[in-house]
Amino acid sequence: FESKLPKNEVSIFTVMSEMATQHQAINLSQGFPNFETDKKLKKLVNKAMKNGYNQYPPANGVIALREAISHKIEALHDTFYDPISEITVTSGATEALYCAITAFVHPGDEVIVLKPAYDTYEPTVELSGGKVVPIQLKGAGYELDWQEVEQAITSRTRMIIINTPHNPTGKVFSEEDMLKLELLLKDTAILLLSDEVYEHLIFDEKVHQSASKFPNLAERAIVCASFGKTFHNTGWKTGYCVAPAELMKEIRKIHEMTTFSVNHPMQRAYSEYLKDERTYLDLPNFYQQKRDLFLNLIKSSKFSYTPSEGTYFQLLDFSAITRERDTEFAKRLITEHNLASIPVSVFNLDQKDHHQLRFCFAKTDETLERAAEILCTL
Ligand code: GLN
Repeated sequence: FESKLPKNEVSIFTVMSEMATQHQAINLSQGFPNFETDKKLKKLVNKAMKNGYNQYPPANGVIALREAISHKIEALHDTFYDPISEITVTSGATEALYCAITAFVHPGDEVIVLKPAYDTYEPTVELSGGKVVPIQLKGAGYELDWQEVEQAITSRTRMIIINTPHNPTGKVFSEEDMLKLELLLKDTAILLLSDEVYEHLIFDEKVHQSASKFPNLAERAIVCASFGKTFHNTGWKTGYCVAPAELMKEIRKIHEMTTFSVNHPMQRAYSEYLKDERTYLDLPNFYQQKRDLFLNLIKSSKFSYTPSEGTYFQLLDFSAITRERDTEFAKRLITEHNLASIPVSVFNLDQKDHHQLRFCFAKTDETLERAAEILCTL
């Protein structure tokens, strides 16, 4: 048979987490917290199970949860999404991204992807027969040249994918960025896929600029989100997407044929839990403290960095330590020093020269201290 994804190997997240286990290394590679999700939330899941919510929920999600999502978006971004027709609960943001791309990208369509890019976008575009048009974020601040985006648009451009706060760089789009994007897409039929899974992990008083907040973007945007990131339970694989009804109708056709519906007790629990907005409004402060602790602890190391603006990832530049490829250095860091990270080149395969590793700081203070101790010896 001919592989449908000939360039793909086993995901780096699987490789690194398996290596970390094998070498009993501290795992700052795959992005997940090593502390527990809130007890209250777990109790709500238990309650839902006891109350018999153990069969298929409605395919598009428990209505109380869709209503809670709608209220949250309206409170934060002043835009109303109809819970009935414009919100769908998915198996993590991963499924939302998959459904959004496969619903709209036809063979020969072009999709603009900003690089480095999260690893699922490109293969999903390829599976749909589309062509990725990459645009590099440049320099230490990973700046985007909007003129380059403008020049990349052709009559075949079907979609542009953005991700703010951005994995792996931690870059956050400003209001000005979103206004530029709005201007570029106005009067075109280009769809916007906005990956906002780290919407609540944002630092230094920055404000998340959701595509849903900008009317000329919202009318063409599919916004994807993940409860796993927000509520410290990535293993529950629950996320959602919102989009105007006519787009959502198409996304749901794929969703029903992919997973049909998503775990029932968790949806019940989240719909209760979301009523208290502190559950997500306290997050920037919580993660900023983690970021600052980690950066403080490695101050005397040879790594250089720009503090992450958002997400729970920090990039560290190792040019002053070794000229090895990032993949080689990351492997050696596990086998010789028992510390796992992610080489940035996996988000940017076309680029050869990478001197940065990504470290996840969604870890207990003790874990961060042990990791920093190792980093300071290099
Ligand atoms: N998004 C997570 C990361 O970037 C990992 C998700 C996955 O393992 N596919 O680390």
